[in-house]
Amino acid sequence: MSTTSPAAVPVAIALTGSLLPCGVCGVAVPGPHLQRDVTELAIAAVDDPRLGVRELTPQRSLAVTRCAACLGRLERARAAVDAFGAFAARLGSRSLIVERLEAVLAVEGVTGSAVRLESPRDLSTALEQLNVAGAAALWSARFAPVQASDARLGVANASPFAHVGSELRQAARDGLAALLRSRLLRTGPVAVPLGPPADSERRGCLLCGVAASTVWEALTASTRSLGGQPSAAPIEGDVCSACSDALADVGSVGQTSLRRALLQHLGMTRTFALDAIEMTVVGWGALPDGTPPNAEPWAHVDVAALRRDLVDVQERGYVNAGAR
Ligand SMILES: [Zn+2]
Ligand SMILES: [Zn+2]
Repeated sequence: MSTTSPAAVPVAIALTGSLLPCGVCGVAVPGPHLQRDVTELAIAAVDDPRLGVRELTPQRSLAVTRCAACLGRLERARAAVDAFGAFAARLGSRSLIVERLEAVLAVEGVTGSAVRLESPRDLSTALEQLNVAGAAALWSARFAPVQASDARLGVANASPFAHVGSELRQAARDGLAALLRSRLLRTGPVAVPLGPPADSERRGCLLCGVAASTVWEALTASTRSLGGQPSAAPIEGDVCSACSDALADVGSVGQTSLRRALLQHLGMTRTFALDAIEMTVVGWGALPDGTPPNAEPWAHVDVAALRRDLVDVQERGYVNAGAR
């Protein structure tokens, strides 16, 4: 049995009065519109099925805005970039990454499935798997810079993303399936905690020392960068999934990533606290060979001393970085 989708031509809404199309999902958004919410897209050329792409002189423009649902997704994209700022900064400028994540989140509207952006790894896998399909699914991509042959000015979608054809929908679903598969690998069978790979000599996470994690990432680091005494040979081992997220966010092994991983473990994400820690945080990997791994993350660290540092800061109210 073969099934064909019903007529692909979406029912369109005429853009009369104050209506503007949502540049993301294409639905009509009633005014009044604040100027800062309106973007003028420059249409440089049109794609004609017989004549090919023709350049337009002078250029035309199309004003677009965002509907409430797409505005909500934009806010989530911004929040994700702010939450993992150091990681996002390595990918590109803030505005570029927000723009890409907004396209990634458009896939939610196309597929009806949620896309999580809760860790640096979420961000990078979502960008990797969904960026292309998401960007292609944007309403604005049908007009700027080249107006597609079937894209008409003056009309909007009757329902969100009605302009997205079956091929692109499938690409979005495929991307999402790949994303979910990679998350499944990452969260893994929760009931069966695993140690580092069998060929790893170190049986704990090089940062927090924990013996069990569902995912391990290989890491080679100097004992010095792990907060220990300098040594001739680097330490080869693995890091657990929580510490690997902290490392991805900071970008390199050192006090910043050690502190971040430790604070995350303690449930503190405020960045000021990174500077508040007076003690040198030592990663488990810098401890002498043969040190047993930890049953709980960071069991080898004097957490009480750390809490004293943090209480001091709370009492002072702020961190005077120059005083350290
Ligand atoms: Zn929208
Ligand atoms: Zn760890």
